[in-house]
Amino acid sequence: MATMRAAVYTTFSGPIIVQEVPKPTAPVGGLLLRVKACGVCRSDYHGWKGLDSDIVTHGLPFTPGHELSGVVVKLGLGTTKFQVGDRVAVPFILSCGSCRQCARNRPTICEAQGQPGFTMPGGFAEFVAVPRADRNVSLMPPKVSFLQAAALGCRLTTAYRAVMQQGRLQSGETVGVFGCGGLGLSAVMIALAAGDNVRVLAVDTSEEACNKALELGAWHAFNAKEGDEYIRARVAEVTGGFGADLTLDTAGFAATCENAVWCTRRGGRPWEPKSLAEVSDEKPEQYTVCL
Ligand SMILES: [Zn+2]
Ligand SMILES: [Zn+2]
Repeated sequence: MATMRAAVYTTFSGPIIVQEVPKPTAPVGGLLLRVKACGVCRSDYHGWKGLDSDIVTHGLPFTPGHELSGVVVKLGLGTTKFQVGDRVAVPFILSCGSCRQCARNRPTICEAQGQPGFTMPGGFAEFVAVPRADRNVSLMPPKVSFLQAAALGCRLTTAYRAVMQQGRLQSGETVGVFGCGGLGLSAVMIALAAGDNVRVLAVDTSEEACNKALELGAWHAFNAKEGDEYIRARVAEVTGGFGADLTLDTAGFAATCENAVWCTRRGGRPWEPKSLAEVSDEKPEQYTVCL
């Protein structure tokens, strides 16, 4: 049997060991990918700790990794959009295309989604079997590197949904990003690219993360190690007591969530029936998007 190297854990919170495992084959409707890059996400940590029900259901041993890009090495039966040698990026949610949510064009909440690195072996391996390729996998433009593409499938798409679709950031607005890891820094970049005169207030406990946010163009970066009151006072100070128009909790801690709410200005978005219809089940009136 052909084998490959993969990073595997056999107990939750246990050692992650690179070892030889059976090499997967190209699934029907999918493709076999030689992995070129795979990001590390906090969800990988949660999964490794045993906190992800999909990984628990899948069972151990397990190979994580859901932010991947690579080269197509084999096509499964019925896959039509790709050729061997194509450079591709894989989203971490492989939607089915036939459930009620997919019919509503909401593939990221597909009722029968597959997820490399959660419901099936992931990208910390030489090869990954990717089902449902025609529907979910994207060809990479030549100028995009594998490393860049690996960041697109989870952190950047999650941040995009928060900033643009849920948050509906407008030109001239101020957005507070609470947590500047991969997700938060993606939100910083998207916010700054999204409109004219958007100002980003970045918050993190890491000086390095704060500096990275500033490097990307954040207006101010505040170190949360100074305490909640400091963060709230500084946001109030730089916004003239108004608060940020939109705040994002991109870390998922009680402190980031509470500070985000505290630092949001009074008032609401203009009523937008069309947008509301599109996101009607996701409380579009709320300003704070807790991810
Ligand atoms: Zn992720
Ligand atoms: Zn579906």
